[in-house]
Amino acid sequence: MTETGETTDSCLICRSPTDPYFSKSYDGYPGSPFPQGLKVDYRRCGQCGFVLSQTHRALTPAQWEQLNASWHHHFESGPEARIVNQPPYADQALALRLLGANGLVDTGDALDYAAGYGTLARLLAKYFATPIAIFDRYVQSAAPGLTYVAEADLRRYRLVINSAMFEHVLTRAALDEVNALVAEDGVLMLHSVVCERVPPDPDWFYLKPIVHTAFHTNRSMEILMRQWGYAASLYAPQAKSWFLFKAGHPLLASLAQRAAALNAELQTRYLHHKPGFVDYWKGF
Ligand SMILES: [Zn+2]
Repeated sequence: MTETGETTDSCLICRSPTDPYFSKSYDGYPGSPFPQGLKVDYRRCGQCGFVLSQTHRALTPAQWEQLNASWHHHFESGPEARIVNQPPYADQALALRLLGANGLVDTGDALDYAAGYGTLARLLAKYFATPIAIFDRYVQSAAPGLTYVAEADLRRYRLVINSAMFEHVLTRAALDEVNALVAEDGVLMLHSVVCERVPPDPDWFYLKPIVHTAFHTNRSMEILMRQWGYAASLYAPQAKSWFLFKAGHPLLASLAQRAAALNAELQTRYLHHKPGFVDYWKGF
């Protein structure tokens, strides 16, 4: 049991039993709550393949907070570190503009949730004249032109954008919070790594940041989508982003056709469509 009383051995996604999967030993670094290093144990769901760090889940809130703050400070404070391993913001902005211009997403009623310093919103406003609202519980930028929404003012939106958050969660509630903001006829745009099978390999690139705790699979995302009431998805490889469409979305029936039309216009397979979750990274 964790401090919050949740059992640690059932899957956050599908509630099936999980098994010990593998471990990784992280080195200590200046400012870490674990200066001697930390051995992290991961559990895997036998049903959907979702992998979660049991070790992170057992941390106290204070330890978890210090781990995040120190890690970001230690590894992301230099300008070079800020450039690597970031979401493809420019490509995400372009994808949003393309889908928006074709009526597939409503950028006029959009929120970037966990937007950090608002990089995507700044690009959308500057290069595409497409201002969107943003929310972040932990950081805010004072840069002009950004519209941070206060937590008390959050509502449902026809488009919710979420980048690089799904791999940092420790609870189901953190995931449900994002979905709860999406209107019943809306779209959730998601940037994260979703693979066919999480490799039990301590050297896997996605385990490099000690603050990555949750690893989603095509199957676990398919299940999550269904639980949340999404019926179909698009994937834009250039933007490394999925667009999940609620079952109540007005264009659901013509989604495949509209994606094909955009691909024809761009003369490339810009969008991949599937009823359910687009398992684009099948070989990974
Ligand atoms: Zn599962």
